[in-house]
Amino acid sequence: MPTIVLSRIMCPVRAGVTILICSFTILTGWFLNISFHTSTYGSVAFSTAFGFVLLSICLINASKYKKLPHLSLSIKVIVALYCVVSLLQDYFYWKQGIDQFFYSGQSGILQNKHSLGGIPPITALLFIMVSIGMIGVTYIKKYVSIFQYFFHTVTFVCFIIIVGYLFKIPDLYTFYFKTVTSFYTSILFFFLSIGASLLSPSTGLTAVFTIHNTGNIIARRLFLQMVFAIVIITYLRFQVQQYNFISSDLSVGLMVIAFVITSMFFTLKASKRLNDAELRRNIAEERFKLVVESAPNALIMSDSSGRITLVNLRGENLFGYTREELIGQKIEVLIPKKFREHHPKNRDSYHGAPVSRYFGAGAELHAVNKDGVEFPVEIGLNPIKNGAETGVLASIIDITERRKQEIQIKQQLIELKVKNQEMEQFSYIASHDLQEPLRTVSNYITLLREDYPEQLDDEVRAHLAMMDSAVSRMSMLVRSLLDFGRLGRDKTLSMTDCNACLSNVIADLNNLIVQNGATVVIENSLPLLNVYEIEFRQLLQNLINNAIKFRKETVPPVIKIGCTPKDGTYEFYIADNGIGIDKKYSKRIFQIFQRLHRSDEFEGHGIGLANCKKIVEMHGGSIWVESKPGEGSTFKFTISKL
Ligand code: ADP
Repeated sequence: MPTIVLSRIMCPVRAGVTILICSFTILTGWFLNISFHTSTYGSVAFSTAFGFVLLSICLINASKYKKLPHLSLSIKVIVALYCVVSLLQDYFYWKQGIDQFFYSGQSGILQNKHSLGGIPPITALLFIMVSIGMIGVTYIKKYVSIFQYFFHTVTFVCFIIIVGYLFKIPDLYTFYFKTVTSFYTSILFFFLSIGASLLSPSTGLTAVFTIHNTGNIIARRLFLQMVFAIVIITYLRFQVQQYNFISSDLSVGLMVIAFVITSMFFTLKASKRLNDAELRRNIAEERFKLVVESAPNALIMSDSSGRITLVNLRGENLFGYTREELIGQKIEVLIPKKFREHHPKNRDSYHGAPVSRYFGAGAELHAVNKDGVEFPVEIGLNPIKNGAETGVLASIIDITERRKQEIQIKQQLIELKVKNQEMEQFSYIASHDLQEPLRTVSNYITLLREDYPEQLDDEVRAHLAMMDSAVSRMSMLVRSLLDFGRLGRDKTLSMTDCNACLSNVIADLNNLIVQNGATVVIENSLPLLNVYEIEFRQLLQNLINNAIKFRKETVPPVIKIGCTPKDGTYEFYIADNGIGIDKKYSKRIFQIFQRLHRSDEFEGHGIGLANCKKIVEMHGGSIWVESKPGEGSTFKFTISKL
């Protein structure tokens, strides 16, 4: 479809409103006996003005409101019939009084007005053509272009009449009729016929003025400029001749020269515009080619019959053909044999409703290269308008590598699943089977103690006590390992108010805080975050617990907690005034079972910070410590804002 542009001036509604206002003014003139409807340029008959009122209303309605179609049709038919009868009456010298409906002596409504004429024959003819044209373009769509020429004929006749009046050439406006069409009537018809032709803006000569193509734009400018120039030059020549400034021969000669110069000027201007447009089109084409050639995807354009019209470099590489080999071939050459037969049907259905479509990885599409090797592809289709023809631009991505990776990932996932199952089995073994021998050893120690109290000397008792504590420690380590493995297994994300979470942790640790005379200061409000709540709570608890545990004996613990937003994350800190940590241990302490102190100094199993690291990493964050021995430690961790 060509782009149609109806400018503010070239719009049926505006033409209709202008005619309506003018014809109303003329009617008012008739009623009030003011003669602005009459002059040396002829007068507009009452019936003519009334006809204009009716047809202009029909024009506005047809263009904008489209209401009461039957009434509108009837009005046009009545106007046409009235004019036909008036014409016949005039032609055959009937005296049926049809054109005296408004003004005949006794019965008319304007009895006392003078100079009221009936519709002149040429006016009646023009009314008939406009009314039939308007009926035709609305109801007989098949022949719109024929009816469009009714309007063009009216415009042309009016143009001749207007020129006749402007240059005072009666032959141009009287024809062979006695009663002539007035200058004003011609102008109103001129606008009415143009307005009516704009009801079908892409048909007939109107298309030259409405379609927004470079050729049309230049043609309409050239036409209007030339018409304007011709009228001005002819008018000047007419004036010059009328007042006898120069001889008639000289005035004709000057007119010819003026015509040639103006036509040359406008033609040069038009050719410059055309050249500019061509240059712009060439630049756009070059850019298009550049974009197509440098595209990372294979681009293949085909016409509605499926013939390839364009291939880019990536297309050549992907399919192994040169573009000369592909252009003109059917697109089916790039489709595996087993799908070729059905493809023309798919192609036709696409052309039936051409919209942008993307066939992603799930569509399981395959293409075939020159060597007959098939490969998986993703395809995006885009309809491309080329005048009346709609082509298709296919953007093709070879997803062979991606498929390989997907298969690899699938395999890795299966392996991971197997490993997880093994881990779970190990956990089971650790919790049941490993605990069992430990329990047996522990039971035998108790048996030895109870059954042989006499035989056991102090040294053996001490050895048994050592064994007992080693077994308990081993059992504790196995349990810790299990807990570490299980951590986050049933994790669920939820929007959590970190302030509430922290308050609960502090409440749980209340005994420890009171026993140690510790002070916990929350330095700023913590955010609302999407976290694994149970694990997040455990994280806070471990860090606060350590901050109290690793205190200086002489100084009561003071723990400061806060959080600051940083690069899409929240950075939490838990700072204490405890014993501090040497920088060289700052990584080691986060490994499982790594401790810096003996159990008799500070009890523990070296699992707390390993758990903290695992929890923070579950949230996509990181954890670290900033500390100096004797100067307290600040543990910091980040949690994503998501
Ligand atoms: P545990 O507390 O059971 O020893 P953790 O994994 O929690 O195990 O801590 C590992 C080690 O890191 C601790 O043994 C301790 O030496 C050091 N540590 C942890 N927190 C602090 C702290 N707030 N101040 C000083 N040292 C700490």
